[in-house]
Amino acid sequence: MVKKFTYYMPTSVFFGEEVLERYGDAIKQLGQRALVVTGRTSAVTSGAMNDFETVAKKLGLTWVVYNKVSANPTLDTVAEAVDIARKEKVDFVVGIGGGSPLDTAKAIALLTPNKAEAHELYLADLPEAPLPIATIPTTSGTGSEVTQYAVFTLPEKKIKKGFGDKRCFPQISWVDPRYTYTLPYDITVDTALDALTHSIEGYLNKNSTPVSDELALAGIFYFAKQKDNLLAGNFEPETRSELMYASTLGGMVIAQTRTTVLHSLGYPLTYSHDIPHGRANGLLLAAYLEFIKEEEPLRVNKILNTIGMNSLDELKLFINKLLPSTGEFSKEELERMAALTFSTAGSLAWTPRQASQSDLLEIYRKSL
Ligand code: FE
Repeated sequence: MVKKFTYYMPTSVFFGEEVLERYGDAIKQLGQRALVVTGRTSAVTSGAMNDFETVAKKLGLTWVVYNKVSANPTLDTVAEAVDIARKEKVDFVVGIGGGSPLDTAKAIALLTPNKAEAHELYLADLPEAPLPIATIPTTSGTGSEVTQYAVFTLPEKKIKKGFGDKRCFPQISWVDPRYTYTLPYDITVDTALDALTHSIEGYLNKNSTPVSDELALAGIFYFAKQKDNLLAGNFEPETRSELMYASTLGGMVIAQTRTTVLHSLGYPLTYSHDIPHGRANGLLLAAYLEFIKEEEPLRVNKILNTIGMNSLDELKLFINKLLPSTGEFSKEELERMAALTFSTAGSLAWTPRQASQSDLLEIYRKSL
């Protein structure tokens, strides 16, 4: 008997080399005038910006660029861009870059037609439909091109917090692995681990469905296929393409399931210790799986088999080779992060094993 499930993923995805050139016309249906949201450099160095401009010019569109999104953006950034979007009367928003510009594009699209200001994003009633959203990812990790989520840093609370709104799925995403060719080694590794954990956390999740399971195992499979190349820094086009595919699959998974407390445990490492998001998840992954294995032994073994490993020790060893050491964390700091995660993480509710504060502390202790 197949478990009851729902499936919703309304984004048109164009995947592969030169998709913008070949299928860029689809953008016409979103409007005439765009706000293009990017970071300071990646949209340009990846070649994505140039490809977008070529298509937009050919179609006679106009656009304004907001290129001040940094890693781990705050709502101040969103506020600044929303002002521009309202003043310039744009019809739609295009996010080009890693997860940060893509997530920022979603928040801008949602707030612009509503009366709410950026700091009300998590509280306000936002009745107006968001502006249409298009994305062009230039990293292979976030999966934001196929999700309804966006994550922001809230300095006043010293946390990272996400929102999810079904109306914030991009309408169109052009996913071209060529835009990741210029990514440096560390970002490639960190983002690949983010993608891997999306698939793993979707597979080990109370919200998992038959469809999300298939997508998750495929995502893990493509990571596994490229893991030795990842370790060696061998980034041929085939590797880039399969890491990109693993990332988009991971996004499709968490669009159905959300992530689990592994992502929540990673956020304080990023917020307070500047450890990149995907790397934070990767550091905690083996200890997290050890914790979940008590409740879900078959699924954890299935993950290990799909990665091509026999034990969690083997996984831990692989990740140690892949990631630089983090340095020492004091006992007090580990306790603080465990308490913070335990008191703020909604994801505890759909993490497949019930976790106490001391369970979370134990995952930190074993990992850092
Ligand atoms: Fe993530």
